[in-house]
Amino acid sequence: MTADPHESEGLENDGLRRFATIWSRAVYPATQTSMTRAELGDYLHPLAVKLCDALHAYPFSAAPGREVGAALVAGHCTSPDALPHILGVVDSYLVLYGRDPETSELPVDEARARCSRLQHAIAAGFTEALRDRTLAEQEALSRAALAAQSAVEEALHASETRFRAVFKDATIGISIADMDGRIRDANGAIAKMFKRSEEEMRRRNVNEWVHPDDAPDVWRMHRQLVRGERDHFRVEKPFHRPDGTVLWTNLTVSLLRDADGEPRYQLALLEDITERRLLHLRLRYEATHDELTGLPNRTLFAERLDRLLSASSDVKRFGLCYLDIDGFKAVNDSLGHAVGDQLLIAVAERLQSCTAGSGHLVARIGGDEFAALCTDPSGPEDVTELARQVLAALATPIRIDGRELSVRASIGIVEGPSGELRPEEVMRSADITMYRAKDAGGSRYELADPDSDARAIDRHSLTTRLPAALEWDEFFLEYQPLIRMSDGHVEGAEALVRWKHPVHGRLGPDRFIPLAEHTGLIVPLGRWVMEQAVRQACAWHEERGKGGGNGKKKNGKNGDALAERPLRVNVNLSPRQLHHPDLVPDTIAVLEAAGMPPSSLCLEVTESALIGADEDELKPLRQLAELGVEIALDDFGTGYSNLANLRRLPATTLKLDRSFTQGLQQHPADPVDVTFVEGIVTLAHALGLAVTVEGVETEHQAAQLRDMGCDTAQGWYYARPGPASTFVQGFAVT
Ligand code: C2E
Ligand code: MG
Ligand code: MG
Repeated sequence: MTADPHESEGLENDGLRRFATIWSRAVYPATQTSMTRAELGDYLHPLAVKLCDALHAYPFSAAPGREVGAALVAGHCTSPDALPHILGVVDSYLVLYGRDPETSELPVDEARARCSRLQHAIAAGFTEALRDRTLAEQEALSRAALAAQSAVEEALHASETRFRAVFKDATIGISIADMDGRIRDANGAIAKMFKRSEEEMRRRNVNEWVHPDDAPDVWRMHRQLVRGERDHFRVEKPFHRPDGTVLWTNLTVSLLRDADGEPRYQLALLEDITERRLLHLRLRYEATHDELTGLPNRTLFAERLDRLLSASSDVKRFGLCYLDIDGFKAVNDSLGHAVGDQLLIAVAERLQSCTAGSGHLVARIGGDEFAALCTDPSGPEDVTELARQVLAALATPIRIDGRELSVRASIGIVEGPSGELRPEEVMRSADITMYRAKDAGGSRYELADPDSDARAIDRHSLTTRLPAALEWDEFFLEYQPLIRMSDGHVEGAEALVRWKHPVHGRLGPDRFIPLAEHTGLIVPLGRWVMEQAVRQACAWHEERGKGGGNGKKKNGKNGDALAERPLRVNVNLSPRQLHHPDLVPDTIAVLEAAGMPPSSLCLEVTESALIGADEDELKPLRQLAELGVEIALDDFGTGYSNLANLRRLPATTLKLDRSFTQGLQQHPADPVDVTFVEGIVTLAHALGLAVTVEGVETEHQAAQLRDMGCDTAQGWYYARPGPASTFVQGFAVT
C-alpha cells in the first residue's frame, strides 16, 4: 500500500477490478459478443464502479442499476440465461468487493438491502433494453417478410433470399402458418425453444397452443387477426413443451396479406423469456416474503389489503386481525435473538395452522407483528372467532432448545364493508385497537370501534403537539390555596398546570400529563412549572413585604409569623422526573435563582410512584429533604403502600386523597371513612408527618376534619384553583 491520499479509492478500485474479472468470467459464456473475455472485463469495470458508487450514495437511488442493465444488453450479454449470471455475481460479490472495510460506514444489513434493490433495477433495465432491441429486430423481420410478399417478379427472388437468410439465422423464433393455423415454416430458433425438430414444428397447428395461463384476450385477438380485422398483436404467452416444462415468450403475430389484400399467412415471432420470467418470479418472491418465517411480508400484505378495499373489488367485507406478541422484547433480551427467531417461526406456523384452507392471508408485518386478512367474513363474529383460535393456538407452550415458552399476544380486530375505509385508516385502527388490548393487560383481542379510535387519534395529536406547546408558551399555572386548619390562614398554594390549546381550548392536566410523562416531555415541562411556581412564591413574598396584606392581618401573632415565612408553593412531580438525574441540581438552581429558601417549596410525589422504590431511587428526594425542601405524599390512600413503609420515606406531609374525605361530606359522615381518617392522622402524627386533606367542599366537612386533627386543607370550600393574581387579592390578605 502507498501513502497516497486516495489510498481508500485505490483499495476500492482493486476490489472492483477483481469484481469485474469475476463478473466477466461468469457472464462471458452467456454473451453473444465479439469481445475477448479480458475485453469484456474492461467493459464491465466502469459498470462495477457505477454500481459501487450507487451502493454507497446518499441518498440512495437504484436508478444507476437500470443504466447498468441497459449497458449489459448493449454489450451483447443477451443470451436467455445471461441475466441470472449477471445478478448472481452482483448478489455474491458487490457488497464484498464494493466496500472498503476501513472506511465504509454503511452497515452490512443496509448494504445487502441496497444491493438487492440494485439487482431489481439491473433486471428491469436489462429487460427493458432487451425488449426494445427485440422489437426493433421484429420490425425489421416483418418488413422483410412483407416486402417478400409484395415484390415484383424479378425482385422476388432476391428478396426471398434475403428473407430466408434472416429467417434462418435469427435468434428469435419465427413460424409462418396459413389462415387455418397449419404451420408452413418454422426456423431453427423456434424449434430449439419448443425442444422439437423443425420438421415436428411444421406438423403442428397454432390453434393447439392453448395454455391455461394465457392472457384472457389472446385468442380473441387471434380470431380478429384471422378474420383480417387486425394486422398484428403482441402478448406474453406460455406454451407447453413436450417434456412438460413451460416456455414463456414475448409473442408477436402479424397478418400477411396477398396482392389483393386478402389474409394469406400468419407470421409469429417469439422471444424466449422463460429464464427472465423465473428470475422475475424469484425476485418478486424475495421482495414479498419474509426471509425468517417464509410468510408474506408487509409489501404483499399491503398489496392485498389495497386490492380488497379498492372500490373495484367484488369483495363485500373484509376482516383484519393485527397481532403483536406480548413481551417479545424480554424474550429477545433475556434468551437471545436466536431463541427470539425460533419463537417467531413457531408463531408463524401456528398462525398458518389456524388459517389453513380458509383462503385468509397471514403475513409478518415486521418485528413481532403479524396480520391475518380475511376475505368476505360474514360479520365481526367470524373474525373474533379467528382471533380466539389464534390465541388458543398460541397458548400451548412452544418448545425451543429444551425450554417451554408460552406465548401471549394482543390482537386488534377491524371488520367492515370494503370500499369504505382506506388501507391506512384500517391499519391505524388495527394498531390503536391492538394497543387497547395490550393496555387492558394483553393476551386478548379487542374489536375496533370509532369512539376509541377517535380518542386515540386525539391523544396522538395532543402528543405530537406537546413539544411545540412548551416552546410557544401555551402552558400556564393556576394556584389553589392550602389552608392551615388551626387558624384558617393560608399556608401556601398548590401549582396546577393547564394547557391553552389553540384548537381544543383549555385542557386540564389529566388530558396531557400522562402523555408528557409517556414521551418524556414531562421533564422540561416539570422544570418549567417549578421555575414559574417558585418565582411566583417569591413575588408573593415581596408583595407581602411591601404590605400587600393591606394591613388587615387580624391575628397579630400569626400575622407576624407569616410575614417572616414566605408562602410555600407545592409543585407536583411525576415519577419520570423523580428518576431524572438533574432533579436535585435543577431544584437547587431554581431556588437559588429566585433567592427563596428550600422550605418555601414542597414537592408532591404520589404514593404509587414511591411504592417499591429502593434506597438508591429515594436518594434524590432524601437529599432535597435534607436541604429543607418539603416532600408531600400526594393522593395518599389510593396506592397500596405498606404503612410501615412510611417510616423510611423522606416525606414530611401526607396528602390524604379526595376519595376519603368525600364520605365526610354527607350527614352523618360515613363511619368507615371517619375511622380511617382518624387512624391515618394518628399514625401520621406519630411518625412526625403533617396531614393535608384534599377535596374539602363543605363547611361541615372542614369542621370535622379540623376536629380530627388534620393540619392543612385544600378544596373548593376555600377556593378553586385560579390565577396567581386572584390568589393574592382573595387570600394572602385574609
Ligand atoms: P392533585 O395533585 O391531586 O391535584 C388536586 C386536584 O384536585 C386538582 O385537579 C384540583 O383542581 C382538584 N381539586 C381541588 N380541590 C377540589 C375539590 O374540592 N373537589 C374536587 N372535586 N376537586 C378538587 P387538577 O388541577 O385537574 O389536577 C389533577 C392532577 O394533575 C393533580 O392531582 C396532579 O396529580 C396533576 N398535575 C397538575 N399539575 C401538575 C404538574 O405541574 N405536574 C405534574 N406532574 N402533575 C400535575
Ligand atoms: Mg398534587
Ligand atoms: Mg392529590
